[in-house]
Amino acid sequence: MTMRLVASCVALVLVYSQAFAKQQPTDFQAVVDRAHAQFKDVKDGANADYIPILATVPSDMFGVVIVTRDGQVFSAGEMDYEFSIQSVSKPFTASLVMDQQGPAAVREKIGVEPTGLPFNSKMALELYAARSVNPLVNAGAIAAVSLVKADSEEDRWNQIHANLNAYAGRELPVLEEVYTSEYEESWSNRGIANLLYNYGRLYSDPEETLRVYTRQCSTGINTLDLGMMGATLANQGVNPVSGKRVLDAAHIPELLAIMATAGFYDESGEWMYSAGLPAKTGVGGGIVAVVPGKFAIATFSPPLNEAGNSVRGMQAIRYIAGELGVGLFGANKGE
Ligand code: GLU
Repeated sequence: MTMRLVASCVALVLVYSQAFAKQQPTDFQAVVDRAHAQFKDVKDGANADYIPILATVPSDMFGVVIVTRDGQVFSAGEMDYEFSIQSVSKPFTASLVMDQQGPAAVREKIGVEPTGLPFNSKMALELYAARSVNPLVNAGAIAAVSLVKADSEEDRWNQIHANLNAYAGRELPVLEEVYTSEYEESWSNRGIANLLYNYGRLYSDPEETLRVYTRQCSTGINTLDLGMMGATLANQGVNPVSGKRVLDAAHIPELLAIMATAGFYDESGEWMYSAGLPAKTGVGGGIVAVVPGKFAIATFSPPLNEAGNSVRGMQAIRYIAGELGVGLFGANKGE
């Protein structure tokens, strides 16, 4: 009798878990489809134009994807167009520094405080004793590039590129036109690099670091690549498709903490309040958000708000996080 009871309980659990396993992907696809349909016609925001070529990227392109920690993909809209990764590259290079030197080096040599100021703030350099402040604003990201252990400019770039490739699971191109367009207008970032050097908070030659940083930002990705990079973080540092470990699982909490507190620049508090997920945005129009241990949500849409964050991308990710109830502190409603 007891055996029969145990057997029927086991059968029930099996039926339930199979139903759940089947139901989950269907729900993910439906939610992604709804997010795309709901926000595709939003016209708010404008392409970044301080990097002149970014103003020429078609503004109506819009892609939304969920990539799970086991590599399942649920997508809607633009998945192929290669746009520049820009600041979404920053946590990934911070992870390389963590991997080479441990999280304490990131805290001590860069900093981990959100600035509450715009991404390219020079004032933050004067206000905060850490100067570079955190690896997700321009100053801290340029400092992170300078911290990669390298014996030449080429070696520094090759390591950063290889790290981004490993996260995406493929060889990513460099968009040379974006590189030239940004480097030619890099007066603000050059100022930041020189100021950091002056304060002893840049750890290699300023102009060399600036070139490698600009190349890093000009790396081409599509929406799916971005989802895969986030899924690697969701999967404790292992790329779900290649099976390659990119970051020690022990460093994932620190990396996601920086994304949660500083991923949206001076809108990071607003983002955590409404979406509840660690994420990173870029002025190329990409955003990646991570549901730790589960999946990533990535979006691409070029028009940005005042803070430099993709308008449709924010709306879509908030909506998906709200629908799936995956905010870190409970089910944010996405409002
Ligand atoms: N390459 C850009 C810059 O340095 C990145 C800014 C961003 O994506 O937020 O200004």
